[in-house]
Amino acid sequence: MALQCEIIAVTPFRQNCTLIWDDETREAVLTDVGGDVSFLLEQIKKHDLTLKAVWLTHGHLDHAGGVVELRSQIEVPVFGPHQDDLFLLEQLPQITAQYGFPVSPSFTPTHWLKEGDTLNVGRYTFEVLHIPGHTPGHVVFYCKDAELLIAGDVLFYETIGRTDFPRGNHTDLIRNITDKLLVLPEHTTVIAGHGRTTLIGHEKEHNPFLQ
Ligand SMILES: [Zn+2]
Ligand SMILES: [Zn+2]
Repeated sequence: MALQCEIIAVTPFRQNCTLIWDDETREAVLTDVGGDVSFLLEQIKKHDLTLKAVWLTHGHLDHAGGVVELRSQIEVPVFGPHQDDLFLLEQLPQITAQYGFPVSPSFTPTHWLKEGDTLNVGRYTFEVLHIPGHTPGHVVFYCKDAELLIAGDVLFYETIGRTDFPRGNHTDLIRNITDKLLVLPEHTTVIAGHGRTTLIGHEKEHNPFLQ
């Protein structure tokens, strides 16, 4: 019995939407529903899961652009990001059109998140950490029991998130990663928003931005 994860790369940006579930209760959540909604719904069906919620790390189109479409098919609450990403969710119609994505209406989540909030999937609890820098309202989800971090666009394999977007801040990003993520146990698995997974210990030792 364990917490299960399936990483599903969605949108032309290959964003790592993650289907997370408790294999005993069959309760599931989807993180960062950027798009490809019909495929996501097929995966939920294939694994015989009940989707309980959507969790969002931040408001960029490749992470949030499929939320409204998903909720038109299945009634689930949306948790996150932090309220400081409101401006990004408000801009979704223009930004999705600009990048040639299916146009998403703007929306606000059912619940904004803040540092120290907790979320559950089945018997597992995730802690919310606020990591501004890539976007001001970026949050990540950490499960101590499963030794798992859903990192969004904050921390990647041997690199960190871009900070050249509106309201990005490189100093904030480095400080928050250092203070809140590098202190996690070294064997914690990091599912990044794009690309391969990594470990906290690997990034501590080899990430050139964090030395
Ligand atoms: Zn992003
Ligand atoms: Zn992204």
